[in-house]
Amino acid sequence: MKKWNMIIDVAECTNCQLCALSAMDEYVGNAWPGVAAPMPRHGHQWIDIKQKERGQAPMIDIAYAPTMCNHCDNAPCPAKGGDAGKKRADGIVIIDPDKAKGRKDLVESCPYGHIWWNEELQLPQIWPFDAHLLDQGWQQTRGQQACPTGAIPRPTPSRGSITATSGATAKASSAAAWRRKPTALSTASRARPCA
Ligand code: SF4
Ligand code: SF4
Repeated sequence: MKKWNMIIDVAECTNCQLCALSAMDEYVGNAWPGVAAPMPRHGHQWIDIKQKERGQAPMIDIAYAPTMCNHCDNAPCPAKGGDAGKKRADGIVIIDPDKAKGRKDLVESCPYGHIWWNEELQLPQIWPFDAHLLDQGWQQTRGQQACPTGAIPRPTPSRGSITATSGATAKASSAAAWRRKPTALSTASRARPCA
């Protein structure tokens, strides 16, 4: 079976936060049975834009990297979770919103810090790749739909993006671009709206 992959071009990310906001719109106050319980309004960042600044004023470079659950192959979270977590045949990792109740120990199982603890529901939670939408036939996630810059590009044969392929993982592609040679910009020249 083909697997879902997400490729993020971090060089195109402007930190506009629309992908993160679209995840909140999808999950805050909404329960998707078998996929995710409601995300808290405050404290969770299922899609989290990391920021790295290099250089010294007036010559600085700021790079942004959208991060979220990597939906790892051989993921340690389902391995530790027993029936509370599973890796689906299409590559999506799910932490079961019913079976994982009380399993705070799962938070520490993620080496990337992408499992969030919901204190009110006593539940570990991740960004579930919008599995409930893909299962309905969607071909892109909410974050991809919202991204105005092409950092989460639409599927094409050459760029991949989120599509049913068996290519590289989001983690690998993001990491490569994150290590790219820095481009020094003056503070004046890079002053532009994030959106
Ligand atoms: S929660 Fe962490 S370990 Fe589990 S699949 Fe996501 S990134 Fe991998
Ligand atoms: S929507 Fe696109 S440009 Fe905006 S923060 Fe997310 S990945 Fe970056």
